[in-house]
Amino acid sequence: MSKTIFQKIADGELPAQIVYQDEWVVAFRDINPQAPSHVLIVPRKPIRNLASVTPEDAPLLGHLMVKAAEVARQLGLAESGWRMVFNSGPNAGEAVPHLHGHILGGRKMGWPPG
Ligand code: AMP
Repeated sequence: MSKTIFQKIADGELPAQIVYQDEWVVAFRDINPQAPSHVLIVPRKPIRNLASVTPEDAPLLGHLMVKAAEVARQLGLAESGWRMVFNSGPNAGEAVPHLHGHILGGRKMGWPPG
C-alpha cells in the first residue's frame, strides 16, 4: 500500500511544522487550521482510523492521548480549554486514512459539531 501524507510527514519525507515527536507519535500544525491552534497528532504506526484499532494498540493510543494533553499545555490551551477530535469514516469526514487526532483550541467551540 502506498504511504499516506501523514506517513510521509512522520517519516520526514514531507515538510510539516512539527511541534512534538517521539518514537511513537508525531504532532504537527494542520495545513488548513480550523481554530487559532490546530495541531494533528498521529501514530508513526500506519493505523487507518479508530475503527481499525486492535487491543494491542492500547498502549500506543494511551501514549498518544497523554502526549496530546502535553501538546495542548505547550500551546497554552490548558486553562482556556481545547477539543480532541478523531474523524473515523465517511460520515465523520475522514479525509486522510492514517489515524490522527485533531487538537483544537484558542476559540469558543459549539456543540454538537455540524
Ligand atoms: P480529517 O478530515 O479528519 O481526515 O482531517 C485531515 C486534516 O489533515 C485536515 O484538517 C487537513 O487540513 C489536514 N492536512 C492535510 N494535508 C496536510 C498536510 N500536508 N499537513 C498538515 N495538515 C494536513
